[in-house]
Amino acid sequence: MKYKRILLKLSGEALLGKQNFGIDAERLEQYATEIKKVVDLGIEVAIVIGGGNIYRGMEAEKTGVDRVQGDHMGMLATLINGMALQSAIEQHGVYSRLMSAIKMDEICEPYIRRRAVRHLEKGRVIIFGAGTGNPYFTTDSAASLRAIEIEADIVLKGTRVDGVYSSDPEKDEAATKYTSITFQEVIRKGLNVMDTTAFTLCQENNLPIIVFDMNTPGNLYSLVKGEDIGTLIS
Ligand code: UDP
Repeated sequence: MKYKRILLKLSGEALLGKQNFGIDAERLEQYATEIKKVVDLGIEVAIVIGGGNIYRGMEAEKTGVDRVQGDHMGMLATLINGMALQSAIEQHGVYSRLMSAIKMDEICEPYIRRRAVRHLEKGRVIIFGAGTGNPYFTTDSAASLRAIEIEADIVLKGTRVDGVYSSDPEKDEAATKYTSITFQEVIRKGLNVMDTTAFTLCQENNLPIIVFDMNTPGNLYSLVKGEDIGTLIS
C-alpha cells in the first residue's frame, strides 16, 4: 500500500450534497462507504471535517456576531459534522473515535496526541473535531497540524474539483490540471490549494498534499492503492 497513515480532509460544504443547509444523508453515506473501503485495506485513517455547511466565523461578522464568537460557533459546527460522520461509519462496522480540540467530555474525547496515535494503531478511525480549537484558523490548518502531529504520510484534501488547476476550472474553460506540482510553484503561480497557514505548515514539515475529487466513488480507494488521482503537491 502506498500510504500507511493518511489524514483525510473533508469540507463541511461537501456534506450539503443537494441541500442548501445541513447534512445530506446520501453524501454522508457515500463518504462512509469510501472510508470503510480504505480502512479494510489496513490503512490508518484520521479525518478532519469542516463546518462550512452549518456555520463560518467570517460570515458571522456580517450579521453582527463578533469574529471570535463566530469562530467558536464554526468549531461547534465541525463537531456536529464529526458526530454525523462517526455514526455513518459506525453503521458500516468501522470502529471510530471523535476527538475534540475543545473539551466536550459528555460527547467525545479530548484531543490527546498519544491517545490519537494509539487509536490509529488499533485500527480505529479518528475524527478530529473543533478544528485547532482556536479562532482565526480554518479546518485546513487543523488538517495540516494534526497530520504533522500524528506523523501521517500525506494530507488528502477531498474537494469537488479533481485537482489543482492553472485557474478556476468552474470559471475558465482554458484551465489546465496539474498532475503534480511543487510547493514553491503553487506559491509562485498564486494557486489556491489551502489557506496560507495550512499550506506553509505542510511545506515546512515536508508533508505532501493530494487534492482530489472526493465525490467520485472509488477515488479515495484508487488513490491509496497508488493510482495517480488528483494533484500531488510535494
Ligand atoms: N474554525 C476556527 N478554528 C479552527 C477551525 C475552524 O475558528 O481551527 C471555525 C471558522 O469559523 C470556520 C468554521 O470553523 O469558518 C468552519 O470551518 P471551515 O470554514 O474550515 O470549514 P470548511 O470550509 O472546510 O467547511
